[in-house]
Amino acid sequence: RAKADGRDCARYFEKGMDQQLRHRQMMEASLRAAIANDEFLLHFQPLLTPDTSQVCSFEALLRWQHPERGLVPPLDFIPLAEETGLIRQIGDWVLLKACQEACNWPEHVRVAVNVSAIQFRGGTLPASVAYAIKESGISGNRLEIEITESVLLGESLNALDQLHALRDLGVQIALDDFGTGYSSLSYLQRFRFDKLKMDRSFVQNLHQADAMAIVSTIANLGKCLGMSTTAEGIETEQQMRCVVEHGFTEVQGYLYGRPIPPSEILGTHFVEKTLASNEQ
Ligand code: C2E
Ligand code: MG
Ligand code: MG
Ligand code: MG
Repeated sequence: RAKADGRDCARYFEKGMDQQLRHRQMMEASLRAAIANDEFLLHFQPLLTPDTSQVCSFEALLRWQHPERGLVPPLDFIPLAEETGLIRQIGDWVLLKACQEACNWPEHVRVAVNVSAIQFRGGTLPASVAYAIKESGISGNRLEIEITESVLLGESLNALDQLHALRDLGVQIALDDFGTGYSSLSYLQRFRFDKLKMDRSFVQNLHQADAMAIVSTIANLGKCLGMSTTAEGIETEQQMRCVVEHGFTEVQGYLYGRPIPPSEILGTHFVEKTLASNEQ
């Protein structure tokens, strides 16, 4: 009986695995179809400099307009895109599209693009970025690449060389989700990032004294090492006051603006404001 139970159990387990595998294959097929059918789009979220309240850049955030599922957020499909390597093709599209959009904006407004560690694996990221810059006609210093420390975690041996090659294109490099990884501080010695983007979780917990201490430390770290610092996920006036008091040089969050389609950018008060003040 015990043996039979074991067999049932194994069969049940196999069935579960089988279903999982089939679900994955289905998802992978629809991801491939999404590339072929051009189902991706970018939304853009503003970053502001708190002292002038002007928009200094927009971050490109990937969306999948699925024929049945509607607008799919990146965390629902990027992990699979990474596992299957499809993120390389998708990422190249994001780079070009983001640069092309930014060419419609005022010259001083930059665009930030998230790049996955997998995109560093083949060693061709600098070539992809160079292509996006050339093809769109944007100047390299208007492009900012956001990476997480997983890029420097080892898998691709020449990640540092690639970061330097990106910098040679005039591109700025930001360390995203700062504070959530393994040993963030050692990465700061290996590469001089232009910007630290503090993870949203610290802003969320600002009511706690220890989170406040961390926020203050990150702001100082940026200042001491000559990096800009972005506080992301600002939703309330209170959070804004706190990070500005601590000296963050850029702010981003729903308080200032949610990610929006590019067609709405020129209609927002952000760019109008910066345009108007430029004309004076
Ligand atoms: P991220 O780069 O850290 O982007 C910030 C995320 O926080 C975005 O979520 C943004 O919509 C959200 N956010 C911004 N302000 C607020 C706020 O005030 N409150 C709250 N609750 N959330 C806020 P989203 O668009 O879902 O993107 C999630 C992650 O997906 C991104 O995190 C990034 O790691 C990844 N991602 C997005 N687009 C791309 C892409 O083109 N390529 C790659 N490789 N990853 C991407
Ligand atoms: Mg980001
Ligand atoms: Mg982040
Ligand atoms: Mg994140």
